[in-house]
Amino acid sequence: MNLIKIKTLSWLTRKDYMEDKKIVCKDCGTEFVFTVKEQEFYKEKGLENDPKRCKACRDKRKQEKENKPAK
Ligand SMILES: [Zn+2]
Repeated sequence: MNLIKIKTLSWLTRKDYMEDKKIVCKDCGTEFVFTVKEQEFYKEKGLENDPKRCKACRDKRKQEKENKPAK
């Protein structure tokens, strides 16, 4: 059903067939949702790859990065 819908809509705007993706976090193994909104955000930023980690792990990594001394 979904596949047919995607094919039918593919020649319309791409936004129409975007849907939430389920991704398993590389770090903690938790399944998280990569929402359409986030996908649009990624696209806007020019990021072509899906996130590999859940938000918690991404925040953690970001924090660790920020906490590192600049020197
Ligand atoms: Zn995680």
